[in-house]
Amino acid sequence: AIEAIDLAKSFESNTVLDGASLSIRPGEFVALVGPSGAGKSTLFRCMTGLTAPDAGEVRVAGVPLGGLRARDLARVRRRIGVVFQQYNLVRRLSALDNVLAGRLADAAAWRVALGRFSRSDRLLAAAALDRVGLLDHAHQRASTLSGGQQQRVAIARALAQESSVILADEPVASLDPDSAEMVLTLLKQLTAEKGLAICCTLHQHALAERFCDRILELRGGRIGLQDEAVPSFARAWQSLSPVRVSQNA
Ligand code: ATP
Ligand code: MG
Repeated sequence: AIEAIDLAKSFESNTVLDGASLSIRPGEFVALVGPSGAGKSTLFRCMTGLTAPDAGEVRVAGVPLGGLRARDLARVRRRIGVVFQQYNLVRRLSALDNVLAGRLADAAAWRVALGRFSRSDRLLAAAALDRVGLLDHAHQRASTLSGGQQQRVAIARALAQESSVILADEPVASLDPDSAEMVLTLLKQLTAEKGLAICCTLHQHALAERFCDRILELRGGRIGLQDEAVPSFARAWQSLSPVRVSQNA
């Protein structure tokens, strides 16, 4: 689980987060929507511990990130997998090596540590690539994979790092509709299968409604609407048959 409690963040006079709170439980796939510039990426950076909020607290599996020493922070951050719009892979490394990098506590250590992984690390990485359907591409350079394949490698890396939480910032914004659907289907399956807590920013509301359990909206620095996603057939039904109870009935 991951929680953000009353986060505030300003850049000079620009107040971006102003009491933003959310909580994502294991087994939930939640969409975060909101206008461009609303602060979605800023909120994610606070939640991954990349940016310190001015006020408020982030807890991962109940552990507050603020106040942790660097080494402990690194350990907690390993439990958060991140996926970005621009596939955050090391382009000249193979798919498998990118996934193996998820086994490292310190992301910068991949340079020295590659090639020195244990057998169990390798098995875990291979299993993660298999899970996203890319075992056949294990030795292909990341830069030569399609966008959808690169996103699936990023998801495999999150699996290999045994994350309990995945934060995906516009994971499908650069993808064609079929690849987008494949990536969202995979994320949805993983929430159920592994009990992950996944939060994903999406620009297309229709996709959020189709795939996610809940939709959160960031607006004015806060999380507003927290509706349960309404299945689209129900929405269509509502719009077709307005229920008007006659006064005389
Ligand atoms: P989009 O949907 O376009 O990705 P977003 O909701 O992710 O938008 P952010 O990227 O979080 O929005 O930006 C929110 C606001 O914070 C913007 O006004 C942006 O200019 C500002 N901002 C973000 N990072 C910084 C920074 N490091 N320094 C100054 N301003 C920043
Ligand atoms: Mg953004």
